[in-house]
Amino acid sequence: MYDIVIIGGGPAGMTAAIYARRNGRSVLLLEKEGFGGQIAYAPRVENYPGVAPVSGAELAERMMEQVLALDTETDIGTAVSVLIEDDRRVVLTEEGERYETRAVIIAAGARHRQLSLPNETALVGRGVSYCAVCDGSFYAGGTVAVVGGGDSALQEALLLSDICAQVYLIHRRETFRGDVTKQLRLFARDNVTVLTPKRVTELIAPEGDLTAVRLRDAVTGEETTLDVDALFVSVGQVPELDSFSDVLPLTAAGYAALGEGGESPAEGIFAAGDCRDKSVRQLATAVSDGACAAISACRYLEST
Ligand SMILES: Cc1cc2nc3c(=O)[nH]c(=O)nc-3n(C[C@H](O)[C@H](O)[C@H](O)COP(=O)(O)OP(=O)(O)OC[C@H]3O[C@@H](n4cnc5c(N)ncnc54)[C@H](O)[C@@H]3O)c2cc1C
Repeated sequence: MYDIVIIGGGPAGMTAAIYARRNGRSVLLLEKEGFGGQIAYAPRVENYPGVAPVSGAELAERMMEQVLALDTETDIGTAVSVLIEDDRRVVLTEEGERYETRAVIIAAGARHRQLSLPNETALVGRGVSYCAVCDGSFYAGGTVAVVGGGDSALQEALLLSDICAQVYLIHRRETFRGDVTKQLRLFARDNVTVLTPKRVTELIAPEGDLTAVRLRDAVTGEETTLDVDALFVSVGQVPELDSFSDVLPLTAAGYAALGEGGESPAEGIFAAGDCRDKSVRQLATAVSDGACAAISACRYLEST
């Protein structure tokens, strides 16, 4: 029986593990893919206080070293359910494991939102991507488009403009939500063209691979076709909480509707990081959430 099982090995989960271990609690950190979470895909992190610009993968690795140095138990597995059995909480995984614990911190983050175009899923790996750092090199020297208006879209476009001949940045509004410094850096690049206010309405793939996208101007309604080798979709995220709706209150958008401490009305259950309902989803807020949830969980354990 663990004191705390943490679901999700991103920045929030790793921080929660560090705080809980330093509080003397036995901890299992459970991750379904790779420890590090989304930040592992960031080519360059420049806004994390006290750390010189660094790749997201390296920053994630340093966080994980700190987690392991505290003798935290870790495992790879996908949590599919959290049960409440009297004083015991049980985490079940897709792989058939059953972990018994006194408290659970759900730090499951978020996954990429799709444009919901009819052939979008079929074109993943055939010209549609959600991760420039993963797939950008396939289109080195080519013409690509990024769709989105937030930080991630700007960062994806910056990365692609280093390796592609031409990058189009498509956004349905005139202005971008993302970091102004990133905007200035991006807009100064010769191989970047901003197309606003436009929506992607069609993915054109006559022979099974994307060759162009159809755009509609949000003001005039004018339709145009843009030839591209790839489209990188960066239009936000959806939380990964479908499996935990029994133990967490969710907003209409599916985020955990919990305060800063992450305490769920279901006793002994906490949530932290990008999966929690909040206005800013960044590294700094994810690690803050991880710390707060771990402290809440430790206080809960002291009181029971
Ligand atoms: C390309 C990119 C660039 C970014 N750049 C920056 C930046 O420069 N600065 C900045 O501050 N922020 C940046 N961010 C945002 C930052 O990475 C996130 O805010 C942060 O990673 C959120 O941390 P988290 O731990 O809450 O969630 P996540 O990072 O999403 O981690 C959640 C983890 O939980 C795991 N998981 C999910 N469900 C389960 C389950 N059922 N069982 C087990 N494990 C599960 C996932 O595999 C994942 O590893 C960037 C994000 C992206 C995508």
